[in-house]
Amino acid sequence: MSEEGAVVVLSGGQDSTTCLFWAKQKFPGEIEAITFDYGQRHRIELESAGRVASIAKVPHKTLPINTFNTLGGNALTGDIDVSSELDSESGLPNTFVPGRNLIFLTFAAAYAYQRKISNLVTGVAQTDYSGYPDCRQETIESLQRSICLGMEYDIQIHAPLMWLSKKETVEMAHSAGALEAMAYTHTCYNGEQPPCGDCPSCKIRAKGFAEAGIDDPLITRFHGFKNA
Ligand code: ZN
Repeated sequence: MSEEGAVVVLSGGQDSTTCLFWAKQKFPGEIEAITFDYGQRHRIELESAGRVASIAKVPHKTLPINTFNTLGGNALTGDIDVSSELDSESGLPNTFVPGRNLIFLTFAAAYAYQRKISNLVTGVAQTDYSGYPDCRQETIESLQRSICLGMEYDIQIHAPLMWLSKKETVEMAHSAGALEAMAYTHTCYNGEQPPCGDCPSCKIRAKGFAEAGIDDPLITRFHGFKNA
């Protein structure tokens, strides 16, 4: 419980898992993981998050926020298929859940406040992604300022993947010791396990591992090593 600990927002995916292990190396104090049950269609994400936290040996809490599916309109909480086309009006993919990261980080900050922890870690990134506006550096900086003002509390939001390519993120996972946990992460937009290999999320993940020259432990868990 100190300035030197951190709360990591853990979705159970590749990026937040990398961030969790990064935080364990970076901060000397206690690291805690929180996961939001926001009504995601793929409940496997919640199981993945629990598994990852236990491999990382950090305390883990799942907090319910089941309002997003009432709002509707996106493929991750509603009954809509993931589309590879961008919306003609917003220019965003239909996997965009408006406000999601803003809400997550605000709740995470409230949690950190109660625990007297001043660092928050999020896996958002501006590079290589679908252009979600709530993953931008500018959004995160602005949100940090709002939280500090609104809670009169000194919170620092760390987004270590912000400027990394997917290849560099895989390299970070490797050097932070996250690969064992990576075998239990869930990234597939279609909620499939083994992953479908075909959705935008699976493709980005596969490309990152291929470019880093590292076998994806999730894939090897299901299909064995490539050269075995
Ligand atoms: Zn997939």
